[in-house]
Amino acid sequence: MRSLVWFRGKDLRVADHAPLLEAAASGEVIPLFVLDPFFFAPERARKLPHRMQFLLESLGQLQAELARLGSRLLIVPGRSVDVVPRLAHQWRVDRVLAYRWSEPFGRERDRRVVEALDREGIAFRLFEGETLLPPGSVQTGQGGMFRVFTPFARACAARLGPQVPLAAPAALPPLPAGVVTQDVPPPSLEALGLSPNARIQPGGEQQARIRLAAFLEDRLDRYHQDRDRMDRPGTSRLSADVKFGTLSIRQVWQAVSAHGGPGAAPFLNELLWREFSHHLLWTWPDLLERPFRPAFAGFPWREDPAAWEAWREGRTGYPVVDAAARQLLGEGFVHNRARMVAASFLAKHLLVDWRLGEAHYLAWLTDGDWAQNNAGWQWSAGCGCDAQPWFRMFNPVSQGLKFDPDGAYVKRWVPELEGCPAAFIHEPWKVPREQRRRFHYPEPIVDHAFARARFLAAAKAHLAR
Ligand SMILES: Cc1cc2nc3c(=O)[nH]c(=O)nc-3n(C[C@H](O)[C@H](O)[C@H](O)COP(=O)(O)OP(=O)(O)OC[C@H]3O[C@@H](n4cnc5c(N)ncnc54)[C@H](O)[C@@H]3O)c2cc1C
Repeated sequence: MRSLVWFRGKDLRVADHAPLLEAAASGEVIPLFVLDPFFFAPERARKLPHRMQFLLESLGQLQAELARLGSRLLIVPGRSVDVVPRLAHQWRVDRVLAYRWSEPFGRERDRRVVEALDREGIAFRLFEGETLLPPGSVQTGQGGMFRVFTPFARACAARLGPQVPLAAPAALPPLPAGVVTQDVPPPSLEALGLSPNARIQPGGEQQARIRLAAFLEDRLDRYHQDRDRMDRPGTSRLSADVKFGTLSIRQVWQAVSAHGGPGAAPFLNELLWREFSHHLLWTWPDLLERPFRPAFAGFPWREDPAAWEAWREGRTGYPVVDAAARQLLGEGFVHNRARMVAASFLAKHLLVDWRLGEAHYLAWLTDGDWAQNNAGWQWSAGCGCDAQPWFRMFNPVSQGLKFDPDGAYVKRWVPELEGCPAAFIHEPWKVPREQRRRFHYPEPIVDHAFARARFLAAAKAHLAR
């Protein structure tokens, strides 16, 4: 049996990789990664600088790991829908094995690859594993998708047995004789027109394991207390690993469950939010184009390029919102609480279309993921599934006081607030005038009470139609 194992960028590991093990257990193995211009054309890659850096590092490590095991990762440029069927035919493979993606364009790609492989009589087997449970498989008693998270999570918990990750293969067979192609090394960032950013988490399976071990050892036991604190390193920071599959979701679930303790259940609940978002996108692929709640269609968002730029660059005059914006551009990550406050601020305080923010986050987050990002933005804007009610607006000041009480988070990302007295760190406009000269920070671009009234009036009128 000759199997082509198609690594597709969300499975950049050798441990707990079911397609790789299945291939190795039954004969010859050809590991392949396609540099599809959909992501790797320089003009596309330049729009995803942080993800590209993480991905290329992870790809380099995967290549080294596969070589250590005795095989060779072939990296081939071209459109997946052309390259995979062509090489599968040329190399006379019996089957192509890969992990399923839940996004609509991934599903469309797979539909076209199946069609082409079918014509050659080659099987294409997709494995589940991007999520704990196959997307779309957790359903209500009536057979539909849950519209509320809590019963969804309960249904997941009832179905989830013990998760047993697979070990990495001890060795792999060498590439079969006669398998030749014009493969290339992983492109460098520079070749794609990008500069490395030293603040981005290092990619790769080894680093991912180190991150997971450090989280279990140092932070999981306090996760329930610290997860909302923007000033503390209280969360796992595993989102990019889960996104690119340098860790499988099953490995993370199993490690945290086995560790147990007070932080485990709230952490696993977050992994179920991830499941929820993938289930949502699987069920309603058009969520990438429309609000979940149809009543929000045609919402009267404002065109306000100046407000948008201030939000994007971190110059709104609201410290938490500005810290989030600068953290995103600076290190490709934003604390979940800061994501919620910043997203809510854009949609509700500024009345700017949340889809602009969604695209911006997707471009700059290292963990940028279509399903989770879309669900996060729709939740924050109030138009999503089981979202924050539209009439609730985060107050950036009280959120700051509660979850960054000493202002350590905002000062890290908005250093000009260093000179701001601690008592006013989340509302610097209240600093007495004579002390204001000690630091230069913009005035709020919009008054909270005014913005609140404006959004509520607009939403009420629109939703009453
Ligand atoms: C506006 C907005 C946009 C977001 N965009 C993304 C995105 O593109 N990619 C992404 O992975 N997450 C996204 N999230 C969810 C969440 O903010 C991140 O997963 C989390 O901050 C990552 O940090 P962590 O790994 O330290 O999280 P932890 O608290 O350690 O959580 C563990 C894991 O659970 C998952 N998770 C945690 N919170 C959520 C959530 N609310 N929804 C879905 N999954 C969750 C992630 O995979 C995360 O790695 C977004 C949230 C919001 C409000």
